[in-house]
Amino acid sequence: MEFEAVIGLEIHAELSTKSKIFCSCTTEFGGEVNTHCCPVCLGLPGALPVLNKAVVDYAIKAGLALNCKINKETYMARKNYFYPDAPKNYQITQHETPLCSDGFVEIETEEGLKRIGIQRIHIEEDAGKAIHEGEHSLIDFNRSGVPLIEIVTKPDMRSPKEARLFFEKLRSILLYAGVSDCKMQEGSLRCDVNVSVRPKGSNEFGVKTEIKNMNSFKALEKALEYEIKRQINAIKNGEKIIQETRRWDESKGQTIAMRSKEEAHDYRYFPEPDMVYLKVDDEWIERIKATMPELPDEKKRRYINDYGLPEYDANIITSSKELAEFFEDAVLNGANPKTVSNWIMGEVLRTLNDKDMEITDVKFTSRQLVKLIELVEKGTISNTIAKKVFAEMFETGKDPEKIVEEKGLVQITDENAIREIVNKVLDENPQSVADFKNGKTKAVGFIIGQVMKASKGKANPQIVNKLVEEELKKR
Ligand SMILES: [Zn+2]
Repeated sequence: MEFEAVIGLEIHAELSTKSKIFCSCTTEFGGEVNTHCCPVCLGLPGALPVLNKAVVDYAIKAGLALNCKINKETYMARKNYFYPDAPKNYQITQHETPLCSDGFVEIETEEGLKRIGIQRIHIEEDAGKAIHEGEHSLIDFNRSGVPLIEIVTKPDMRSPKEARLFFEKLRSILLYAGVSDCKMQEGSLRCDVNVSVRPKGSNEFGVKTEIKNMNSFKALEKALEYEIKRQINAIKNGEKIIQETRRWDESKGQTIAMRSKEEAHDYRYFPEPDMVYLKVDDEWIERIKATMPELPDEKKRRYINDYGLPEYDANIITSSKELAEFFEDAVLNGANPKTVSNWIMGEVLRTLNDKDMEITDVKFTSRQLVKLIELVEKGTISNTIAKKVFAEMFETGKDPEKIVEEKGLVQITDENAIREIVNKVLDENPQSVADFKNGKTKAVGFIIGQVMKASKGKANPQIVNKLVEEELKKR
């Protein structure tokens, strides 16, 4: 029997507001432990929460960016549970009335565009952080009360790859909208996943497990691959899948059972009595809409329509806000969009990848890349040399003209000089000349390669082609 996976994600994103959700403490990451707190975020008896309006602004913005409906009247709820990092013994969150619902994100799969539904987005407070040291557990409350949105998708994904594509796209949209810094290594973007398997074509859902603690795109994909295999094998062996929470152990490459899954009713949700209803009107929504920047999908369409970029290029360039800014800066500086795109898709991304760097880390500017492109277009340097200049520019951030001048890389266009090299190469390779005379045209390519090599890549390729042909005929 063939199986298919059914995957849904729950993503927590810390909002980039300056202060916490119910008090004026800073949300800044790090800091001396337990210094970013007050009676409210420490959950001391009698302290009363006041909702930070900016949190609602950011959450509405996230909702609009993810094509959601914004719900006009919602309320906060208490989710009751005991854990040392939540000193109130409850979390203030939203339960029956999320601020945003019924949205979607489009991902580019091998079978084409696929729409992944967003069931809901609600606002809530983050808990403190437990640090386990030997026999002791210590708690840092700096994170307690940092505003979060929880984004819950519909169970629309069918493979680990789709889940990864969705999570990457979601992160990109949140970054474009500027609602979260999405730093996974600092925990400001966290992903839990629900996964079950069922016979392919079935409409019923299997028993799902939840996997926690995936802090990278790769971890998400790998954990899902493992868990799907585990569930399918269990079913084939006649075992029952247990609804439970598991965690991903990166070093073992396995998901490990943590506890049986709690049901919503275990939390005894009830409306938070210390807070009034949250009412959002059209004017508020319109005000947020007006601040929405161009999002990746719109940008992609514009690159394809206005700049004539292939869809593939447009997809990759718009996947990162910073990369898109770099591209647009170069175009505004007068370079041909397709040429810039070729450089970005080629040398730029390849080098960034090799060095495990981001576009924001580079030493050179988009203006310098434009200058490099101009040097090639004016014929000052060849494409081959341009790649060498690029590598140097990447390392040092020096101007391309300066690199060309310092290293003597100006293209040789002097026909006499090139003819001299051609004849030297022909003299040294009598076999290739003989091959050519015997009709083996492949020999020409070899000779051209040798001439380019002898000129250290500086000879103008068109002139080399022409002269090799001329000189061969003379022999
Ligand atoms: Zn506080």
